[in-house]
Order: sequence, then C-alpha cells, then structure tokens
Amino acid sequence: MDLEFIADENGQDIRLLTSEIVLLQEKIQQLKGRIETIQQNCRHIFLETPVMRTCQKCGFSESTYY
Ligand SMILES: [Zn+2]
Repeated sequence: MDLEFIADENGQDIRLLTSEIVLLQEKIQQLKGRIETIQQNCRHIFLETPVMRTCQKCGFSESTYY
C-alpha cells in the first residue's frame, strides 16, 4: 500500500478506513474464537452428505471422504 496516499478522490481518509478494517479484522478473530469455543463444546447433531457432515446446531463441518 502506498502510505503517501492518504485520501481518495472523495476526500475519505484512507488511514481512518484502514484502522477501521484492522478493528473489524480483530472483531472477526474474536468472533471466530467464540465460534470455535461453541463448536468444541457442542454435542454435534450431524447432517450427513456423501462427502461431508455438518452439525445442524453449530455449523461445524468435517469431511467424511478419506
Ligand atoms: Zn455442533
């Protein structure tokens, strides 16, 4: 990224938008962590297809094709 260029043609502050992206990415990581915790503690109810199965409760999926 070109750090010299801090505003687009609409006058938006790129640094502000970039810091917002960083914050959102941190939020995404937190939420992914929460999903992982939920999935680890879930008593899975799997919906199976020929190649994979997906838990109907937490969305955890794994391949059944080895
Ligand atoms: Zn589950």
